[in-house]
Amino acid sequence: MVALVLVCHSAKLAEGVAELAAQMGGDRLRIGVAGGLDQPGDPLGTDAGRVARAIEEVWSEDGVLVLMDLGSAVLSAEMALDLLPEGRRERILLTEAPLVEGAVAAAVAAGLGDSLEQVAAEARGALGAKAAHLAPQAAAAMAVAAQAPRGPTLRLTVNNASGLHARPAARLVRTAARFDAEVSVANVTTGRGPASARSLNAVATLGVRRGDEILVRASGPQAEEALAAIQCLADDEFGDPPEARAQAGADARAGRSLRVAAGAASLSGPPPASGSVLQGLPASPGLAVGTARRVRATPVEVPREPSQDCQADWAALERALIATAHDIRRARAAVAGRAGDYDAAIFDVHLLFLEDEALLAPSRAGVFGEGKSAARAWVDAVSAAAAAWQALDDSYLRARVGDLRSVGDQVLRHLLDVDLAADAGPAGESLDAGAAGIVVAPDLTPADVAGLDPACVVGVACAFGGPASHGAILARSLGIPAVVGAGRALLGVADGTPLALDGEAGTITVDPPAAALRALEDRRARRARDEAEAQLQAHLPAVTRDGVLVRIAANVSGRGDVPAAVAAGADGVGLLRSEFLFLEADHLPTEDEQEWAYRAVAVGLGGRPLTLRTLDVGADKQLPYLHLERERNPNLGLRGIRLGLRHPELLTAQLRAALRVAADHPVRVMFPMVATVDEVRRARELLDEARESLIGEGTAVPERLEIGIMVEVPAAALMVEAFVPHVDFFSLGTNDLAQYVFAADRGNAEVAALADALHPVVLCLIDGVARAAAAGGRRVAVCGEMAGDPLAIPLLLGLGVTELSMAAARIPLAKQEVRATDLAIARKLAAAALAAGSVAEVRRLSGWRQA
Ligand code: PEP
Ligand code: MG
Repeated sequence: MVALVLVCHSAKLAEGVAELAAQMGGDRLRIGVAGGLDQPGDPLGTDAGRVARAIEEVWSEDGVLVLMDLGSAVLSAEMALDLLPEGRRERILLTEAPLVEGAVAAAVAAGLGDSLEQVAAEARGALGAKAAHLAPQAAAAMAVAAQAPRGPTLRLTVNNASGLHARPAARLVRTAARFDAEVSVANVTTGRGPASARSLNAVATLGVRRGDEILVRASGPQAEEALAAIQCLADDEFGDPPEARAQAGADARAGRSLRVAAGAASLSGPPPASGSVLQGLPASPGLAVGTARRVRATPVEVPREPSQDCQADWAALERALIATAHDIRRARAAVAGRAGDYDAAIFDVHLLFLEDEALLAPSRAGVFGEGKSAARAWVDAVSAAAAAWQALDDSYLRARVGDLRSVGDQVLRHLLDVDLAADAGPAGESLDAGAAGIVVAPDLTPADVAGLDPACVVGVACAFGGPASHGAILARSLGIPAVVGAGRALLGVADGTPLALDGEAGTITVDPPAAALRALEDRRARRARDEAEAQLQAHLPAVTRDGVLVRIAANVSGRGDVPAAVAAGADGVGLLRSEFLFLEADHLPTEDEQEWAYRAVAVGLGGRPLTLRTLDVGADKQLPYLHLERERNPNLGLRGIRLGLRHPELLTAQLRAALRVAADHPVRVMFPMVATVDEVRRARELLDEARESLIGEGTAVPERLEIGIMVEVPAAALMVEAFVPHVDFFSLGTNDLAQYVFAADRGNAEVAALADALHPVVLCLIDGVARAAAAGGRRVAVCGEMAGDPLAIPLLLGLGVTELSMAAARIPLAKQEVRATDLAIARKLAAAALAAGSVAEVRRLSGWRQA
């Protein structure tokens, strides 16, 4: 029998709903509850660990249906899935069904022995009767909601380079949803809005661009809190990471126009002449030679007949929405595993589309009020929303219409039961999944790119789209060379035509002449050979010519990055940026949640060592829910270990979680941004206290835990000897070390180039740290970006560094670089570099040695 789990902010609410549902489902029905938090004085909230335990408690092989109340309940439930064994996730369904009506309807269906899918459909349909009954009032209520509610306001200037594009808008919607408040947003600059902040479509189609002023208004019990959280989010540029800010800014400066694919049927032009070069925009580096693989046009027919049974039609649409959500979650997990969490986040935007009232309300009105079939009502709702997006005068935002259409299409295909495997392409086109060659398409959505098999698809060429489109972003992350925006002429290329694609120059040569093909083929082959050779040996240790083992580890942000790191041959994790767990959450992760997250990384590493860096927020990484004072100079402010010592409860929870995992996995702990020995002493005291308290509770802890510090503040580098008695290892954070040595903000494009870690002055500091570490018998690693730079590797080894930690993709070639290094020569090179007068001279020396 299917079991149910109820996730609520309040334990009482969860118990009450469970009682009601239990009456309907009979004695055998198992209902788990995950309500509230164990925090005295602050009992309201949700906790992924608790949700995972509730699922385990009621586990049934027939499946578990999870119902949630609002906001963070959804995130906690999603996070709980990650905490459970993979085999179980398939049989757990999260439903957006209303909590009370849904639980009661699901209990009845489960009690009758229905399948998981049937139980979920019952739960989702639970509001049907109420919706039909109240449809006129609901429409009126929505119209009122579109007007700005009364209440406090907040005026903000949006500073993101690309405005409120999909991900920042999604973050705004999620932030607003956490509070018991009606929030609206208006674009003061253009006069658009107000729009409900509960709808991604509504917020995004306000067309908010960089520099626009917005007016946020909130009403309800938590209006002030909602505005404060939105202010924090805006201060953090709506959560855009620095690289996204830089990319979006570069695209905006280059004035790149992102054209959007129109109807597929009218796209093809005459075939371009042999030898012609189509100039597009470089979207993903690399060279590809192969034959064109056109996507087949297979438009989906939408039946025109009116609905025969509006209840059944609506239930079918709800099933299609659930099935699409499943597909999207699967694609998200696959992309997170291959490319990391940031790139996978676009699928969170896709999930928001599925619950957006701007699509659901008109669909509901179409089915129940206008007698439309579910497919017709859904297509009309998506088209209307897409038209609103396309009317925007912001090219970046306009490009997001592709995401909306892609999701709309996936739902439609589920609804009409059109074979998704055969027809997985954009806007009614399909990719011939197994065929090798260069995929030629009008435009590719992230879902399309996620579905490409890099073993068969050597390149991607798009007539439309831009390098900032999420399809392009994903292609980059997956390492598939791509050119976009090559123009309509590309669509005249016949299937099977030989093509040469240069992802750096942004060109596609049609039927290339023999000489051009040879040159490109040579370059491509050389690069591919190097990479393949490196990959073949990636799992072997990296040993220098003279027999010294160098550990090559990966920098990761969470469990999602681990499979790629292991596949790339990582000897462990040299830097777990634990702050990403905190940055992704909308609440402070509990000790249990942290333990689950760290344990998942350790398990994924299969016995390889894990270096866990404690929370390094502050500076460019802010946690809105900590409500910290805004600093005038955050790079020099309360970041890293300073924050942990100012708020010992934060650091203690993290250290307790780390100790619990270290009881049965090789975990080390590393403190960031250390400037003084006293900071290490105090951090160690907290660690000792955490250990004692765990022992007192009867919890297993390791005999000993290795402790290290990041050396990234010049003060620590200059007095490194003083730290030796207090630590087991050092890891040089050369990104920050260079920033602080040159007083040049690493996130400011105007000065970032100054902070070059290859400069002799930084090398001198590394030299000092390596010498002191060697004299004291301590290990010394580098985990800044330079660790993965082939030019820097021999230098670092020559300076005495014994471990390098880097992005997973760089590991195979880095190992090759180590194998090509002779330490005696590397030491001479390092000595020459230390004596050099400029960074250019160091580069010349290293380049010469490499040649
Ligand atoms: C560094 O500063 O070099 C480092 C590795 O840490 P982060 O980039 O996370 O600041
Ligand atoms: Mg750092």
